[in-house]
Amino acid sequence: MALHTARTFQTFLKLAFAGVLGASLVAGDASAEQKQPSPGSAKALFGAVALPNQGAAQPFGFYAKGCMSGAVALPTDGPTWQTMRLSRNRHWGNPAMISLLERLSRDAAKYDGWPGLLVGDISQPRGGPMFNGHASHQIGLDADVWLTPMPAHPMSVEARETLPFTTMLQKGAFLTINPDVWTESRARLLMRAASYPQVERIFVNPAIKKKMCDTWRGDRTNLGKLRPIYGHDSHFHIRIKCPPGAASCKPQAPVPADDGCGKSLAWWFTKEPWAPPKPPKPGTKPAKPREVMVSDLPNACSSVLAAPSVGSVQTATFGAAAAAAPEVAPMALVPAAASDEALPAIGPVPDDKPSDE
Ligand SMILES: [Zn+2]
Repeated sequence: MALHTARTFQTFLKLAFAGVLGASLVAGDASAEQKQPSPGSAKALFGAVALPNQGAAQPFGFYAKGCMSGAVALPTDGPTWQTMRLSRNRHWGNPAMISLLERLSRDAAKYDGWPGLLVGDISQPRGGPMFNGHASHQIGLDADVWLTPMPAHPMSVEARETLPFTTMLQKGAFLTINPDVWTESRARLLMRAASYPQVERIFVNPAIKKKMCDTWRGDRTNLGKLRPIYGHDSHFHIRIKCPPGAASCKPQAPVPADDGCGKSLAWWFTKEPWAPPKPPKPGTKPAKPREVMVSDLPNACSSVLAAPSVGSVQTATFGAAAAAAPEVAPMALVPAAASDEALPAIGPVPDDKPSDE
């Protein structure tokens, strides 16, 4: 009996640890801060560019390895959206991504009881890898949207920097949705986003995916587009397909045809995805991943980096006739906070799961 109790407690501790791990990734890809990149690395170079290049909109490469030409900015404010964390200068994207976000914001406000979107990171002005936060978002076809509704008033620049994320997860529980926070309007928002044919996949926390599998009573045709992944419990991530004519854009394998509510989801509720990485064998040094250089990206990316800038943020803002967007200083390269060092490394993962992001 005592042994059994001890085992149960051990299991509880493991689950609790997994819960903590889940919570430590609360800000999703936004919290996975990294060290300052080396001068000359792709992260340093793409992160230092304040404006997009002139030229036609074009993604080059893959979501997690590429760059983009001719980006446009999502206006800072619209009737049904507000952009967040302006100092990051990451509201740039392919026009197909920007127009999709505007469309989603309108439709969600009109049909889903969701007053408007708070839009997080899209891409840097010329895409490319970012020094913190994301593996993908490199070609202007990925965007993060908060699971917090837009307030009725336009937020101040300060509030947009500091508004905390709200997790949908129950504190202290393993991959469990907090019923006090979750709403059906959020479910409708996710399915609205998944409903557009150009949307390729949407990343959400496994607990959110499970909630959708268990409770969504509408058309389930697009449920399979919701892909479970680490983090993503306070925001979701929309990825659109390579736009028509984007010959240098590398598409991702399509999502499986099923609703994704079976085995692949069940895996997330095992210990495996949350197991800490195995310690290196004594006497061996773990291999340090090499930094990505511009030469590792598609050839076009060095030209994109070197090309002349557009005249101003305003001229490159989507629907430039809209109200002029305020100039925003590019993000300073700041060292990661000490606490980021404590982020546990992610354990082994099968294909088509976290590597997606
Ligand atoms: Zn994202």
